Amino acid sequence: MQYSSTRGGIAPVGFAEAVLMGLASDGGLLVPTQLPRVDAATLRDWSGLRFEDLALEVMAPFVGGDIPRDELRTLIDDSYATFTHPEVTPIVGVGDRRILELFHGPTAAFKDVALQFLGNLFEYLLARDGGELNICGATSGDTGSAAIYGVRGKARISIFMLHPKGRISPIQERQMTSVLDANVHNIAVRGSFDDAQRIVKELFNDLPFKSEFSLGAVNSINWARILAQMVYYVFAWARCSGGDPEHRVSFAVPTGNFGDVFAGYLAKRMGVPIDRLIIATNRNDILTRFVDTGVYAVGEVFQTLSPAMDIQIASNFERYLYFLHDEDAGRVRALLETLQTTGRLEVETAHHERARADFDAVAVSDAETLEQIRQTYAASGYILCPHTAVGVKAAGSGDAICLATAHPAKFNEAIRLAIGCDAPLPPVLQGLMDLPTRCLELDAGADTLKAHIRETLRDTR
Ligand SMILES: *Cc1c(COP(=O)(O)O)cnc(C)c1O
Repeated sequence: MQYSSTRGGIAPVGFAEAVLMGLASDGGLLVPTQLPRVDAATLRDWSGLRFEDLALEVMAPFVGGDIPRDELRTLIDDSYATFTHPEVTPIVGVGDRRILELFHGPTAAFKDVALQFLGNLFEYLLARDGGELNICGATSGDTGSAAIYGVRGKARISIFMLHPKGRISPIQERQMTSVLDANVHNIAVRGSFDDAQRIVKELFNDLPFKSEFSLGAVNSINWARILAQMVYYVFAWARCSGGDPEHRVSFAVPTGNFGDVFAGYLAKRMGVPIDRLIIATNRNDILTRFVDTGVYAVGEVFQTLSPAMDIQIASNFERYLYFLHDEDAGRVRALLETLQTTGRLEVETAHHERARADFDAVAVSDAETLEQIRQTYAASGYILCPHTAVGVKAAGSGDAICLATAHPAKFNEAIRLAIGCDAPLPPVLQGLMDLPTRCLELDAGADTLKAHIRETLRDTR
C-alpha cells in the first residue's frame, strides 16, 4: 500500500514511512492511494472474529508488505492486551440504546485504542530500521496521558509532554505525572495551554533542532491512529449484524479533531455496511456548520463540559476534503490556501450535497449534555461521560450505536453537576492520587525547553 499527500507534493511512500513521517513534508496529510474494498463474503468471514483477529484483517492491506503478517499480529496482540475488557471495545445495551465502549484501555479514554498500537508500532519500526524518536507535545487532557501510556518504557523513544501548570484536571495530571519510566518527561509549564502549544510549535519550526533531536509528534493526524480506529467500526457492525452484509448500522460520534468519525467514513467507503454517521459536536460547532452550509469558517474556541472536543480547526478535516473532491490534491490545496488567508472555505453545491449525504451533524449545548447524563442515569443507572452524552443526545430517537469515548470518572465535575454524585472509579484510576509523581516545572519559553531536552538526551544517549 502506498500513501500520498492530500496536497499532492510528495512522491508516494510505504506504510512505515507514512507512520514515521506523521505530517507529510508538503504540509498535507498522508492518505492511502487506493482504498481496499471489502465484499460480502469477506464481511461474513470477519463477523465472528475476536477484536484482535479482526484488527489484523482490517489493517493488513493498509500495512502491505511493510510488516510481515505474524509480526503485525504480535503488535496488535500486545497493544490490546493492556485493555481490561476481553472484547476490547464491547457493545453494551443501555435501555434500548447500544453504546460502544472505547474506554477500557490504560487511561480510560478512547485515544488508547490508537495510541497503544502506535507506541508499539514506533518501537518496532525503530528497532528494525534504526533511529530514535523524541516525541514532544502539549496537552490539556486526554491526549497527553494516552500518548505517555503508549510509549512508556519503549526503547529508542522518549516523550516530553507539556501541560499548563495547575490548569488541567487533577486526575488527568496524576495520570501523566505518576508514570515514572525513565523515558517519560512531564513538564508543567508556568503559563496557559496556548503557551505550551506555542512552545512546542516553535520547537518543531526550528528545523535544525528538530532534526538533531529527531523530534516527532503523536497528534491525531498520524495515519496509524486513523487505521487503528477503523477497526471498532467494523467490530461493532459485526457484533450487531450477526454477519449479515445487508444489515446496516449507524454511529453517533462525539467529534473534535474529526479523527474518530473520519475512520468510520473510510470504513463505510471500503464497503462496511454503515448507514448514517452522525457528527456530534459541542458548542464548538465548526463541523456542524460545515455540514449545514457547505462553509467551513473558523470561529472562537469555547470552553465546554466536553473539553476534548473544544476545538475549532479539526485537523483531520483535510483528509475528508480530499476524498470529497475525488482525491484531487490541487483542489484541496486551493481550498486550504483560501482557509489560510480568509479563515473560511466553501465547497461547491454538489460537494455540499455530498457532504450532507455522508454525514448528519448535530451541535449539543452544555445544558443539553447535562440533561442527557441525568436522563440516561435516571432511566438506566448508566453514567455517560460528557463527550459520550453529546453523542447520545445527537443520536436522538434513532438507533445509532453511540461511541463512548471516555470513562465518566475522568470528568467528575460534569457528572456531579448532572447527577449530584461521582462516577465510581474504574480500576485503572483507583489509587492514582496516592502514587508518587515526577514532573519538572519550567518557564513558558522555547529556549528553556530546548535546553532541557538537550540536557536530558545528552544523559541518556
Ligand atoms: C479526543 C476525544 C474526542 C474527540 O475525538 P476526535 O478524534 O478528535 O474527533 C472525544 N471524546 C474524548 C473523550 C476524547 O478524548
